Amino acid sequence: MGYKKSVYTVVNDEFRRRKEKSVSEKSKREQEILMHIPELKEICDVIKSTGTELVRTVIDGGDVEIMIEEIKTKHITKMEEKKRLLIAHGLKEDEMEVKYTCALCEDEGYADGKICKCYKKALYNEAFAQMNFGAKISSHSFENFRFDFYSEENDGIGVSPYERMKTVYDVAKKFARNVEKKSNIVMRGPTGLGKTFLAVSIAKEALKNGYGVVFYTAQNLFRTFERQQFNKDMEAEDEINEIINCDLLIIDDLGTEFITQFTVSCLYNVINTRILSGKKFIITTNMTTEELEDKYSNRIVSRILGECTLNEFYGSDNRGK
Ligand SMILES: [Zn+2]
Repeated sequence: MGYKKSVYTVVNDEFRRRKEKSVSEKSKREQEILMHIPELKEICDVIKSTGTELVRTVIDGGDVEIMIEEIKTKHITKMEEKKRLLIAHGLKEDEMEVKYTCALCEDEGYADGKICKCYKKALYNEAFAQMNFGAKISSHSFENFRFDFYSEENDGIGVSPYERMKTVYDVAKKFARNVEKKSNIVMRGPTGLGKTFLAVSIAKEALKNGYGVVFYTAQNLFRTFERQQFNKDMEAEDEINEIINCDLLIIDDLGTEFITQFTVSCLYNVINTRILSGKKFIITTNMTTEELEDKYSNRIVSRILGECTLNEFYGSDNRGK
C-alpha cells in the first residue's frame, strides 16, 4: 500500500503549488523584460503564432510539407533573434522560459511514463516528517550504528554480544530492504542495548524503499485507540486505519505502558489482523516472555512469538557511552 494517503496529499499539493509558482513567475518576468526591451514583443508574437499557423496549414492542405518547413525555419530564426536580444541586454537566453524546480519532469512528478526521482524523494521526505521521530532519535540509522559498544568477549552462551549484534543488525538490514517477504521481528533485551536505535533504522530504511511505515511507542499506540474509542476522535480513527493497514508497524517498548483489558484487546486485534493480512510488524520490549505473559496473557504472547523471529540483545547498557 506504500505511504500514507496524507503523504501523497501533501506532496501532490506541493507539486501543484510549485508548478503554479514557476508559471506565474515566468509571466511576471516576461512582462518586465518586454517593458525593458519592447522590440521583443513582436518577435515573441511571431513565435507564439507559429503553432496556430502550423495547424492551419495542415487543415488548409496544399503544399503542406514545404509550408511546414518554412514555418519551422521562421520559428527557429525568431527564437535565435530572441536569444540574441536577451543576451545583448545582459540577460540569460532562457530568461523568458518557465523555470521548474525539476527540469526533468517539469514539476509533474513523472517523466517518460516513470515516476521522477524528485517525486520519490519528496514522498520520502514527507513520509519521514510525518513519522515525528523527534530530535532525540534523528541520528538513528544503520550507518550510525556503533558495534564498538558491544563486547567481543564470549559471554558463556557461545557467542559474544558483538557477534550477536552483527547477526541482529544483518537481519534488520535485510528486513528493511524486503519488508513484505520477511518474518516479523521481536527485539528483546534490557534497556540501552540499541533496540530502539535499530527499530528506527529499519523504519527509515524501509521508508526510503517506498514502504509505508508507522512507528509508535506502545504507550502512544494505546492512547490513539483510547482517543478513538472514548473521545470519538476522527484523527485517531485515521491513525488506526494506518496502524492496521500500513506495510510495516513498529511498536516500541511494549510492556512499559499501563495495561488494562482495553489495551490487551487492542494489542490482540492489531497483531491478529496484521498477521491474517500478511502485514509486517516489529516489536521491541525489555520484558521476558513470562513478564509479557503476565501482562498480556499466554494466548497473545504465543500468537506474537509464533509469527516472529526473536532477536535477543545482550551486553551492558550503551546509553551515555
Ligand atoms: Zn522531477
